[in-house]
Amino acid sequence: MITTDPSKNCPFQQTVVNDCYDVIILGAGPAGTTCAALLAEAGRSVLVLERALMPRFHVGESLLPRTYSTLQRLGLLEKMQESAFPKKYSVQFVTETGKITKPFYFDEYIPHESSQTWQVERAEFDLMLAHKSVENGATIRSSVHVMDALFEQDRAVGVKIKLKDTTSGNEEVREIACQVLVDATGQSAFLANRLGLKQADPLLQKGTIWSYFKGAIRDEGRDEGATIIMQTEGKKSWFWYIPLSDDVVSVGCTGSMKYMFPGNGSTSDQIFQRELAKCPEMQRRLENAQQITEYKTTKDFTYRATQTAGPGWVLIGDAFGFIDPVYSSGVLLAFASGEFAADAIVEGFKNDDLSAKQLGHWNELYALGLSYFKRLVYGFYAPDFSFASFFRQYPECRNQMIDILMGDVFKPDLESLFKKMGPVVPPSDIDVAS
Ligand SMILES: Cc1cc2nc3c(=O)[nH]c(=O)nc-3n(C[C@H](O)[C@H](O)[C@H](O)COP(=O)(O)OP(=O)(O)OC[C@H]3O[C@@H](n4cnc5c(N)ncnc54)[C@H](O)[C@@H]3O)c2cc1C
Repeated sequence: MITTDPSKNCPFQQTVVNDCYDVIILGAGPAGTTCAALLAEAGRSVLVLERALMPRFHVGESLLPRTYSTLQRLGLLEKMQESAFPKKYSVQFVTETGKITKPFYFDEYIPHESSQTWQVERAEFDLMLAHKSVENGATIRSSVHVMDALFEQDRAVGVKIKLKDTTSGNEEVREIACQVLVDATGQSAFLANRLGLKQADPLLQKGTIWSYFKGAIRDEGRDEGATIIMQTEGKKSWFWYIPLSDDVVSVGCTGSMKYMFPGNGSTSDQIFQRELAKCPEMQRRLENAQQITEYKTTKDFTYRATQTAGPGWVLIGDAFGFIDPVYSSGVLLAFASGEFAADAIVEGFKNDDLSAKQLGHWNELYALGLSYFKRLVYGFYAPDFSFASFFRQYPECRNQMIDILMGDVFKPDLESLFKKMGPVVPPSDIDVAS
């Protein structure tokens, strides 16, 4: 099911034919391929350069309902509806005391098919998006080493890459020119690192350990595909439970980096079991389950770049910014920024304006959406803040919360929720470590 087998035939092995493209996109995750598909559809020549062999494994399986509009725009809704990806109607939280709260059913809020979304195996989902961009006319070259981004003064003008012939093993170094360079390299943040633009959030330096299980207890009916977020006793970490197809469940645990991985020689299994012991509801669900992959670990450091765009370049998806995974916002943000950037680039070509201002004019609205997620994440981690008590006091804010949980964040009218929440700050990494 979840495959990282590099010997699998990669469909994107064709050589790079041209020396010049309108747009080069680095990275074939959801941000890069969305942007590529829309640019190619608008008639631009697009080259996507991906480091990995596709299909490649990726964490981040739970979608938000607002991904619907991007999937619709890409013409992929029918494929999603026909797929075996479990349908997700809700998200549910379990408190640190083990209280199972009422699920947030999205269609109770908006009774429309767009309120139902999916839990996806990313290798398959990302491949579907990649195929779409190729169908629209983009070229994808997988397994490419991007050596450098080429600039003339501060304007991006191309890339230097190393290509390896898969049959002969011969290597070739090439320079390929473009008018716009889009960085969609995910957490590698190729350009933001190169240009020194990345700014970490010191309060959200988290680490995650996760694995996949078969035979875990699943709910039934509409709840079968729900994401469940369970806090552990003491609120120092939380588990996700994401049901995938074929009876597989993705289970991960996130906490402060220093708390999760204190560097005392604990194995991944010991860390996972240590946290599982503090989460009776997850224990119940996994009691008879069989673990089917090794543990994986990652740093989930929240960060964002100080700039979205420059002359001839744009940052999208995680390459611009990443927010803690608790609200499953990553793919939605990748889609949204891929769309915003594609529209800005198409307009820029039309008006002969590929300036930073034109390519990044969507930044303000996008950053606002990001900030909603981030402030909700702060509330989730703050030891003295309880959403349940907050909604008892301000029931009128529940709909705003659901807006964010659904991913409907690119609008200004959610500020009043945070005004009422007041300054809510999570503890620093050091406070949580002990
Ligand atoms: C623990 C964890 C859990 C998560 N859970 C969820 C979830 O449930 N739901 C959700 O929506 N999001 C989740 N996310 C976030 C989500 O995975 C990302 O936000 C999303 O994948 C971002 O898409 P992207 O296209 O920007 O980057 P990616 O999907 O990371 O794609 C970037 C691509 O660029 C390639 N690349 C990297 N460097 C280079 C290079 N130098 N040259 C060429 N190519 C390169 C990579 O191989 C990759 O294919 C989670 C993240 C973490 C860490």
